[in-house]
Order: sequence, then C-alpha cells, then structure tokens
Amino acid sequence: MSFIEYRDLVKNGDTVLIYLSISNIYALKITSGKVFQTKYGALKHDSIIGKRYGNVVQCSRGWAYVLFLTPELWTLTLPHRTQILYTPDISLVILQLDLKPGKVVCEAGTGSGSLSHALARTIAPTGQLYTFDFHEQRVSLAREEFQEHGLGDIVTVQQRDVCAEGFGLEDIADAMFLDLPHPWEAIPLMNVSFRCSGGRLCSFSPCIEQVQKTCEALHTGGFTDITTLECLLRPFEVKEVSLPHLHLSEETLNKTRKISLESQDGTTDVKKEETGKINTNSLDDTTGDAVSFSKSNSKRSRIEKSMENVCEAEWAAVPSLQIPGHTGYLTFATFTHS
Ligand code: SAM
Repeated sequence: MSFIEYRDLVKNGDTVLIYLSISNIYALKITSGKVFQTKYGALKHDSIIGKRYGNVVQCSRGWAYVLFLTPELWTLTLPHRTQILYTPDISLVILQLDLKPGKVVCEAGTGSGSLSHALARTIAPTGQLYTFDFHEQRVSLAREEFQEHGLGDIVTVQQRDVCAEGFGLEDIADAMFLDLPHPWEAIPLMNVSFRCSGGRLCSFSPCIEQVQKTCEALHTGGFTDITTLECLLRPFEVKEVSLPHLHLSEETLNKTRKISLESQDGTTDVKKEETGKINTNSLDDTTGDAVSFSKSNSKRSRIEKSMENVCEAEWAAVPSLQIPGHTGYLTFATFTHS
C-alpha cells in the first residue's frame, strides 16, 4: 500500500484503519491467518483481504469499518515513541512552509514520524524529505514504516545529531522543520542546506523560553519574517440556550420609527446623550459571557421599557469554555542568502 496513491481493495500486507467507534480506531497491518481482538470480538485478517476500503467488516460480535490510511488517520493511531505533532499544527506547518509537490524538505528529529508522513504526502511524487534523528532505534523503526507505507522513494531517514553536525546537505532544501529540545544549537548550521534561492524554516517548541532562544538564533543567523504562532482549537457545542426575543407591538414600532427620524433630522441628538451599559445575562448559563450592550438612557430606554422582552429556548452553537491544551509554539522564518 502507499499513503500517496489510493487503492480500492485491501491486500495482504496493507496497513489499514479499523474503525469501531470515534474513540476506538486502530492501525492494523493485514497478515493472512492472523486474528485481531476488538471490543466487538475477533476480526479475522482474512475476512478483510479483498474487501473494498470503506466497507463494513464482520467481527464475531459486531462489525467495524475498514478505511484507507491517510497521514491524518496515521497520526491518530501510530505507535508513540515520542511526543508527536498533531494535524492542526501540521496543517499550519505545511501552509507556512509553502509546501507542494516537488519541494525538498529537511526535518529533525524524526521522532515517531507523525509529521514526516504528512510532509511526504504533500511533496509527493517528485519531492524529497530528508529526516534525521540521533536515536538509532527511532531511525530504524521510522525507516521500516516509511517503506511499508510506500514512502521509501520520497523519504530518506538518517541517524545524525543535527545540533553537532547540521544536515550534511548543501544547496538543496526549500524548507526545514525542527522539533528539537535545543533548536538554537542547530540553526547556525542550517544555512548551507538551503537552496541558493533561500527558503522557509519552522521550529516547534512547547515552552516560550525555548521560543525566545530560537528567535534570537534566527535573528543572529540572518533570518527574516520571524513569526511565532500558536494553533488552538476552539470547539463549539450545539446547545439549547435561552435567547431574548423582542416582540414589538405596532405602537412600539411607530415610536421607534419616529425617534429614528428625529435623530436623523437633528431634532434629537441621540449620539450626544449619555450612554450607559446594561447587562443581559440570558446567555450566562451557557457561555459564562455576559452579553452587554450600550444604549442611550432617555428616549431609547423608554422604547425598550415598552417592549416585551421574552426569553425563548433555541438551539445555538456555543463556544466551549474549555479550550483544549497547549501543544506548542510554531516559529516561522525566511532565509535568503546574502
Ligand atoms: N515531530 C516528530 C513527530 O511528529 O513524530 C516528533 C519529534 S520528537 C518530539 C523529537 C525527536 O528529536 C526525538 O526523537 C529525539 O531523538 C530527536 N532529537 C533530539 N535532539 C536531536 C539532535 N540533536 N539531532 C537529531 N535528533 C534529535
């Protein structure tokens, strides 16, 4: 199988995604004769071979879907050998590094290969990813996975301490990515690997102190456009909330129109009237945010007094109070040979 080319039917040796439920998904290497135990009972590998990707497969006490693996699904199911990058950060990296088919990227460290799979898919079929890690076992496991996932021609993985030796490549990279504890040690060794036309660099760090040191090294190294971004997801929940509804009688509408005309022709300078704040707490129970709006105290408040302000239950998309945790900061910069 290949992460780059979609295929219709499952073959022996493919790594597939077994989907039982939103929180029960597994990457599974199909091996004829083997059995995979799920919470819905045994799933025979042989019953999956020849099935169309996307189809239902039978377990002894239920069923599952068999899906074609993408870098995004691999990120959710891969064996963790290190901390990994997740898809929201990865998408920002790919966008900001301006990656597309044919680009050459240098990466360190390889870690569990989560980012590497997404980089390889983006630059395929003509690009190259050179990825480095100083940990021998991580390098050999990553190499096996890249081969199994059909990325062997696009990804070259090597054991190397990039903080001591750099990438060991000259005039080749359009983009570089660093996920290292001390990126500022590697940055002075990176320039030589950029193409003569220059390129983009990204460094991922969980702590702001690391970001500060990285930015200093980038500045000293002649990088420009140094920008640090943090990608946070803000989920919205669909909830039933009480929203205020204004029921205007004909008499109230006429009054509103009259005051609006007066304010337009200058009879009443509404803008000059003192403004006050009124808090309407109808949404408090759902968002925690008090909805406040200002209005003039005199004629407009008379209208509002005469309005029937009724709260009715409605379905609404409400921002969650919980913002999922911080992963890290992405520092981007541009390198141009002087
Ligand atoms: N971005 C990777 C992913 O998405 O799977 C995870 C990278 S992991 C957090 C950091 C990796 O950097 C580790 O595997 C570690 O061995 C490697 N590393 C740390 N210092 C290094 C160095 N000086 N040279 C090469 N690799 C290094």
